[in-house]
Amino acid sequence: MPTVVKTLKLRVKDKHAPLLLQMAQQVNFVWNFVNDLSSRSIRERGKWLSAYDIHPYTKGAAKELGLHSHTLQCVAQEYVTRRRQCKRTRLNWRKSTGSQRSLGWIPINTGAASWKSGQVYHNGHYFGVWDSYGLGQYRFKTASFNEDARGRWYFNVAVEIETKPTEATASVGIDLGLKDCATTSTGQKLHGRWYRELEPQLAIAQRARKKQRVRAIHAKIANRRKDEIHKFTTELVKNNAAIFVGDVASAKLVKTRMAKSTLDAGWSSLKTALEYKCHQAGVVFEEVNEAYSTQTCSACGALPQSRPKGIAGLGIREWTCSECGAAHERDVNAARNILAAGHCRLAGGITAL
Ligand SMILES: [Zn+2]
Repeated sequence: MPTVVKTLKLRVKDKHAPLLLQMAQQVNFVWNFVNDLSSRSIRERGKWLSAYDIHPYTKGAAKELGLHSHTLQCVAQEYVTRRRQCKRTRLNWRKSTGSQRSLGWIPINTGAASWKSGQVYHNGHYFGVWDSYGLGQYRFKTASFNEDARGRWYFNVAVEIETKPTEATASVGIDLGLKDCATTSTGQKLHGRWYRELEPQLAIAQRARKKQRVRAIHAKIANRRKDEIHKFTTELVKNNAAIFVGDVASAKLVKTRMAKSTLDAGWSSLKTALEYKCHQAGVVFEEVNEAYSTQTCSACGALPQSRPKGIAGLGIREWTCSECGAAHERDVNAARNILAAGHCRLAGGITAL
């Protein structure tokens, strides 16, 4: 079965913060030691040490530092990678105290962390996490503990996820629009009610300068958006072997009553959700150029006289092709053209279609 590698991020329970902080300080110590060792070697002998060269200098220190020996190797590896990227003979020091303190980081090599008794086991310690993924079902690859700016700790772990080949054979095009957030070539719509229904309430709260209320409504909108997009995309991914979505043309971002940011948020979360789910399900996902998708007749391929054109055309929802007489719902027609463009891109690509 084909697999993909994903990184899962889990919040570590706060009670482990003191231990993690202490380990992170030792990581900083190792980093600074490597920084000093490497820069001196370059300065004094003109030799750029590799991670392999550094290993003998740190070997054996792990136990005393309270770190896993693999962590020391990871630090050296990361150091060498960054030194190459930055093209510098010396990197910044990692600081454990003061206002410029580096956020905690403890790298973990494949095999040095595992799932035991419902917790993350690493270097002789058990770490409780808020497990939203069912970590027990995965084998851990490389991982790290990371601190964020608020002092919270996360366990980031790469895992292999199996992808099942899809049994669906259909394909679908999606037009991202203003009136409806998305319309498919089969006529399904994601209405984007999440904004419109709450817009009056939002306007009232904004006029009254009720900050908390405004924030609450925005959160409500975001929740509805997430929920609707989740349902819409799950259904599409279940029923199709290939999904094509138009890249959004700037022409669509002409003045509308809806805020641009709201449209953007809907479109981008839709695309993100689709891409992720397609990836997992082994469904083809492509963004295709949507130029002329609205104006071309999806039945005969002509750019007929009667097509919706320019700003005035934005209000036209239904039109009839003056060349072939086909009647079109504007966005469905656009989605069909996007589907056709997607098929051209894949010509010869997938046999299932
Ligand atoms: Zn036509």
